[in-house]
Amino acid sequence: MPVLISLLFGLAIGSFLNAAIFRLHYGLPIWRGRSQCFTCRMELAWHDLLPVASFLLLRGHCRTCDAEIHWQYPVVELVTALLFVLALTLVPLGLPLGVSLAQLFFWWFIFAIFIFLFVYDARYGELPDQITLPAILIAFVWMQMMHWGWQSSLIGGVVGGGFFLAQYLISRGRWVGGGDIRLGFLIGLVVGWPLVAPSFILAYVLGLVGVLILLGLRRKTFGETVPFGTYLIAGALIAIFFAEPLLKYIGRML
Ligand SMILES: [Zn+2]
Repeated sequence: MPVLISLLFGLAIGSFLNAAIFRLHYGLPIWRGRSQCFTCRMELAWHDLLPVASFLLLRGHCRTCDAEIHWQYPVVELVTALLFVLALTLVPLGLPLGVSLAQLFFWWFIFAIFIFLFVYDARYGELPDQITLPAILIAFVWMQMMHWGWQSSLIGGVVGGGFFLAQYLISRGRWVGGGDIRLGFLIGLVVGWPLVAPSFILAYVLGLVGVLILLGLRRKTFGETVPFGTYLIAGALIAIFFAEPLLKYIGRML
């Protein structure tokens, strides 16, 4: 039952994220307005807005004008649903129901933010402050309220943000942008110290692999900017779900 609820809720939030990413980029109000086809501007009926199912039923095309619907839409919905279900494994057993639910909602919130920033950075090469700053505030308040792990979170945030701030200062803003500093801080707060270190290392490894693949496919030429936020988020997700083996490994290294 919790799996089914998380799955359906994840699909719905994924669908919202798709619309929110588009609306923020084009300066439309995020919370209001009916969704419409990007090509013919036809307002979509509720049965055209069912996550994944509508995409499959319409075979990836608009009902009115037959324009192709981007594959990003069902993929974002599915990935959100998957992460929302996996979040169940992050809530420790044996806590009072209220605390368990609060923890689950916190992870859902963080995953929604991560997916938003991942797609936004991949598509538009930006990490918007309207998303990172409120997320930092909520993550900070939540982590300080938790009586366990708040020091780890605070150190993680300072290390994560400081790592990019140092690069920013050394390169006078040429290597990294302000958005990377804020995302580094957010990830540090969420994964904590010492997990922030493997999380960033994984991001660099994935970034290198990604660049090599894109160079191989000739989709990118050398020297083009890489949406590093996407790799940072991928690294953070691995660190979150594989926290235990990573921490054991770090323990043996020290
Ligand atoms: Zn259309």
